[in-house]
Amino acid sequence: MYNGSGDLMQVVDLTPRGYCHGVLNALAIVKKVIKTESYPRPIYVLGQIVHNQKITKAFKEYGVISLDQKGKSRLEMLENITSGTVIFTAHGVSDQVIERAKEKGLTFLNATCRDVIKVHRAVKDKLQEGYKVIYIGHRNHPEPEAVLAISRDIYFVETEKDALLLPPHLVDEKIFVTNQTTLSRYDIDDVLKIIETKYPHYLFDNEICHATTVRQDAVKEQEKVDLMLVVGDQKSSNSNKLAYVGQKAKDIPSYLIGGVEDIDLSWLKGISSVSVTSGASTPTIVTEEVIRFLKNYNENDPNTWDHETKINVEDIL
Ligand code: SF4
Repeated sequence: MYNGSGDLMQVVDLTPRGYCHGVLNALAIVKKVIKTESYPRPIYVLGQIVHNQKITKAFKEYGVISLDQKGKSRLEMLENITSGTVIFTAHGVSDQVIERAKEKGLTFLNATCRDVIKVHRAVKDKLQEGYKVIYIGHRNHPEPEAVLAISRDIYFVETEKDALLLPPHLVDEKIFVTNQTTLSRYDIDDVLKIIETKYPHYLFDNEICHATTVRQDAVKEQEKVDLMLVVGDQKSSNSNKLAYVGQKAKDIPSYLIGGVEDIDLSWLKGISSVSVTSGASTPTIVTEEVIRFLKNYNENDPNTWDHETKINVEDIL
């Protein structure tokens, strides 16, 4: 904890952090299938069950095959499965994927988070009421993929530039705007400003989930520190947003790390305080190892510098 400058390095463990209910539910479903021999083998996950490579690797040890092919949709990946059990991920799947799994006679379980299902329902309801839907999200993420499959009358927006390109004729339509569950208000507000100038009558439903909101609030409300480390996967949208919020709201240098092994010791040089949080799909054991390392770290004592992970793959689940 001594940082070499005469002071103890303060390590702030932000709460809440880590697993959300949607991730816990998805992990429980995969574990249940592993334990239950009556589920046909092989066991497939259509994508990564949650966005964390350490979890995907741990399930692989139990023979779970995660199909995550870059550039391929869930529907395309499903075509390669001819037998076994398929698990749909927490990020959600389209109705077309579910129908196709039925047509193929596959056993399937749906681990879609209830907060994602809520967005699907809101979009479907508004389309039925005659609205045109504008959906704010991230390209190449499975959550928007499933939402956009609901209808061709959904306009996808990721950036302010996308919003500027929305067609002028929509001004005569009823407009409903909603979003991916794991964004930050910063992403949304920038886009909404433009939507407002184009379609001032728009209706907005903020669907950032509660878990994402409270983890971001903890980042926003923290005391100023010298550094923030977010433990999470590079592919995890909500983890990326925590680092973004730390930088944007508090001007704290913020890094996303997969685990203790990703810490760059140069970040710790001369600092006196560091906060730690983790994404909703990050195993607690991984975050705890980061915190332990930081608490023990002494800039002047090379014996405290080893940051290879000691966690075995079987300890992750
Ligand atoms: S981050 Fe939110 S939407 Fe995603 S799984 Fe967790 S609770 Fe559900």
